[in-house]
Formats: sequence, C-alpha cells, structure tokens
Amino acid sequence: MSKEIVLENAVIATLGEKNRILEGEVLIRDGAIAEIGKEGSFRKELPEAEYIDCRRRLVMPGFVNAHHHLYSTFARGLSPKDPAPYTFVEILERLWWPLDKALERDDIHFSALIPLIDCVKKGTTTIIDHHESQGVQNGILDELARAAGEVGVRASFCLGVSDRYGKGREGVEENARFAEKLRSSPGGLLSAMFGLHAAFTVEDETLDFAVSEARRLGVGFHTHVAEASSDQEESVKRFGVRVLRRLRDRGVLGPKSLAIHCVHIDSGEMEILRETGTAVAHNPQSNMNNAVGVAPVLEMLEKGILVGLGTDGMSSNMLDEVRVANILHKLARRDPRVGFVESCRLLLENNPAIASRQFDLKLGVIEPGAAADLVVMDYIPPTPLNPVTFLGHFLFGICGAPVDTTIINGRVLMRNKELIGIDEERIAARSRELAEKFWRRF
Ligand SMILES: [Zn+2]
Repeated sequence: MSKEIVLENAVIATLGEKNRILEGEVLIRDGAIAEIGKEGSFRKELPEAEYIDCRRRLVMPGFVNAHHHLYSTFARGLSPKDPAPYTFVEILERLWWPLDKALERDDIHFSALIPLIDCVKKGTTTIIDHHESQGVQNGILDELARAAGEVGVRASFCLGVSDRYGKGREGVEENARFAEKLRSSPGGLLSAMFGLHAAFTVEDETLDFAVSEARRLGVGFHTHVAEASSDQEESVKRFGVRVLRRLRDRGVLGPKSLAIHCVHIDSGEMEILRETGTAVAHNPQSNMNNAVGVAPVLEMLEKGILVGLGTDGMSSNMLDEVRVANILHKLARRDPRVGFVESCRLLLENNPAIASRQFDLKLGVIEPGAAADLVVMDYIPPTPLNPVTFLGHFLFGICGAPVDTTIINGRVLMRNKELIGIDEERIAARSRELAEKFWRRF
C-alpha cells in the first residue's frame, strides 16, 4: 500500500454527474480517492498520512487532453523557408512531414518530456497522444511510454500509420506490438490506441491490415478526420467516397475510436459518428492557427455525439483551449448565447468520458473509487461559489488562475507550484542541444 495523502483545508469541486462544492478533506490511497470528509476527519485515525494544506484553495479533478502531439516540441521557433505555406497540405508537406521524418529516437524522448512537464504545470493529468515519426517507427511507442513514466502523466499512445513514405505496414506492426505489450501487463498509467495519420495517406490494403490487428487486440482508432476540405476532396478522388463513410465501411469507427477535428463533415457524416458511437476531439486553437475552418461542434453535440477537446500539440494547457472554444463558437455563430456551457462540457464532462473509454477508470470526478488525478487551483473566488455559479468561476476565473498542486494516480508531481522529482532545467538544456542539431538536419 502506498502512503496515504490527505488534502486538507480544501474547497472541493467534485464535478461528475452532480457537481458539489464542499469544504473539507480528500483522502487518497493506492492511486485512488478513498474518501471525502469534513475538516479534521482523518487526523486521528491516520496520523502517519501526508497532509497537504490547500489553504482553502480549490481542489478539482485534473484535466484531460483528448488529442496531443508530444512530438511537436522541436517545431517551436522553426519556420519553413519562404514563401510561408498557405494551404493545409503545404503546411503538412513543408513543416510537419519533414519534421517527423527527421526526428531521431533521442529527439523524440526529449520532445515528449517537455510537454509532459508542461502538462504537470498546467494541471493536465491525462493525455491521449497521437505520435508521428516516419523516420523511426519500430519500438518508438516504448520511448514515449518511458517519457510519460519519467514524468508521471497518464497517457494513451498510438503511432499514426501512413503510407506517405511507404511505411504503413511497419506502422501497423508498431501499434500492434505496443498494444500487445500493454495487454500482457495491464494497469499503470498507460493505454494504447491504434493510430492512423489521416485517411487520405492510408491505402485500403494498409487500412484493412490495421483494422484486423486492432480488432484482434480490442483497441480503438485515433485518427485525423476532415481537418481541411482537401481531406474530403482527396478521399472522393482516390477512393470514390467521403472520409467518414470510408472509415465506417472499413471498420475503423466505434465507441473506442476517436475522430480528430471533423471540421469538414456533413450531416450524413455526423449521423455516422452518432450511429457508430465514435467520439470526436475538437481542437479550436489548431484549427484557427491553420485557418482550416470551424468544426460543427454545436451541431455534433445536438446530435448526441461525444465531442471532447484537444490541443493538437499546440500546448498542454486545457484551460487556454477551453476559453478559446467558448469564444470561437460565439463568433462563428454570431451568437453570444452559445459556447459557454458547451465548451465547459467538452473539457469537464466529455474528455473524462472519452479517456474513461481508454483507461477503464473513473476520471474527471472526485468521489470514492475515482482515480486520484487532482489539481489544486490557486483561486480565491471573489463572488459566491456554488454549483450554480461554478462554470462562470471556471471559465472566467479558474482558467486564468495558476495551478498550485498536481497529483496523478495518487502521486504528487507538483506542490506549491514546484515540480517534484523533475529536473526541468536539465531536460530543457538537453532538449535545446538536440533541437539545434535537429534544425540543421531539417
Ligand atoms: Zn493532430
């Protein structure tokens, strides 16, 4: 049994089906929440536990990032030669594809450590990562798993299979190898999905092989879908069918699968997502940055599709992403009444639901039995805080407040804004060295 931890003197937002705002203590045992009690409940019985004084700050469940790319770190400060890429395909062909092809094993390890540390600092306790490295595929998911283990973040990993350099089969084999490995030693902080880059760079033969392997291993797919209109045009031209129809017909979709972006989908395709129970990850900042359009998130929610929120590798900060989601959909609809509840729902309800499908854990709620993935936000409410006012505090106050303490799987990774057991300066220094060499190769 690991050491018990008690978060005392806390204001607790439980979230979950019925959000409650409580004052008291949270007892953590063996990586899970054991009990919630009134102030002073546990001292007498558990004098040996580690007590963390929350100083009446807000304790809430840690955040989930439903779509990350840890490998994107070395793009920071790197720009393709002039003229700047204009279309989405140009952005892929001149930045992201050469980047992932040039990454070496060590680059990938340090590229991953940097955003994983940022996850801890920003209170992101679970990520669903989508990796791409056409230069090194064999065994690469182990490298990411090692980085996640070093930092302590809960993570689902997959490798984006692609035939763009003729290495699709190798990619399928790496996904299968990793999923098989986790299946034989389950538990811990890791989970596996089956990655596809995007349907337009995966040939039918590779797709069918991937589906048969994913089915054998019981894992879902994690793939980009209709991020730009070119994805649909290419699909129709080469395969005679739009993206989601092709993915459905080939067996990619289902409740364990995650379709990323879905910016350019029609109502028939939304129906496919709904019927198959496929979840979607919306990435507003990335979509705006690539100028690809606005995903029909409000329509998808109205249809009952499980839509979550990701950062697409742009950052590890879900609190920024949710604020952008709110204002983007207001602007897109020219309607200040929309976006507020929906954006909060994406992050606080739907992301934990999506992650729970991958980890088979209760996430995103403070109640006995749920994972002890928690944050203490350095937030002092200036107006009454209760279940009715919570979302207003969340979006306009808590999201801008510093994260004070981060706990994942019952392990304290940051306390009083100081990382524990993570040498960020050493890791960043090594990352800069590797990035400099990498940029010369790029
Ligand atoms: Zn992505």
